[in-house]
Amino acid sequence: MTGKTIGIMGAMPQETDGVIALLNNPVRRVIGMRSYTSGTINGINTVVVFSRWGKVAAAATAATLIHVFNVDEIIFTGVAGAIDHSLNIGDIVIAKRLYQHDMDARPLMQQFEVPLLGKTFFECDDSKLNKIREAISPLIIDGILKDRIGADVLAQFGISTPNLHIGDIASGDQFFANNEQKATLQAALPTILCVEMEGAAVAQVCFEHKVAFTIIRTISDAADEQSHIDFPRFIEEVSSKYSVCIIKQLYNTN
Ligand code: SAH
Repeated sequence: MTGKTIGIMGAMPQETDGVIALLNNPVRRVIGMRSYTSGTINGINTVVVFSRWGKVAAAATAATLIHVFNVDEIIFTGVAGAIDHSLNIGDIVIAKRLYQHDMDARPLMQQFEVPLLGKTFFECDDSKLNKIREAISPLIIDGILKDRIGADVLAQFGISTPNLHIGDIASGDQFFANNEQKATLQAALPTILCVEMEGAAVAQVCFEHKVAFTIIRTISDAADEQSHIDFPRFIEEVSSKYSVCIIKQLYNTN
């Protein structure tokens, strides 16, 4: 067993439940309406928690993981809505830069700038991104996802071969469910691949505490008029399994 402790967060209980099931000797502790389960995966101390939705919920959970559980690193796995047209449902996005798309203190500072940090985004360094890409790409290249989930189930969601992307993610306290919202975001931040509600908040707390972070998202919907319909079925049938597969790859436990 190493001395390192990893915190794993998810924004849907269906996603964290599968990861909690991977823990050896699980011990549960409830703090501030969150249930933190500690144990080991592949000999590494790990704490898994369902963060609830939105930036405040995610930031509070990340702070507890850091202060109470002394985690050295936080991994977030969850779902997101596609913004860039090149993304399809079932694709995986590893965050390079994370923006808070609803942060706007103009005219005091430029749009998206996080007060007192002088930053408009939080970034993951390239060497870490390469390691994560290496760990996760067998899910796609070797067809591990297809084997675990079943090509027939994936096909029901129009997923044939999922792609892996590394790029920019926008987070904010809004569920994107129409093309107008998408267009506004794209005009302001043209490099954004997908939108979600927690990643950049976790990234800010980790940045402030010098804790490493990895944000990985599976595309559950196209952030358009259809998104609230696609979303629940995708969570139940597909993304819960994606999270477990992603964590297993990162822990090298196949
Ligand atoms: N569980 C609720 C919805 C939760 S909000 C329900 O079933 O109605 C959706 C979660 O998925 C958030 O945690 C967010 O990070 C992510 N997400 C997925 N698609 C999104 C979209 N189109 N816009 C914003 N967040 C999205």
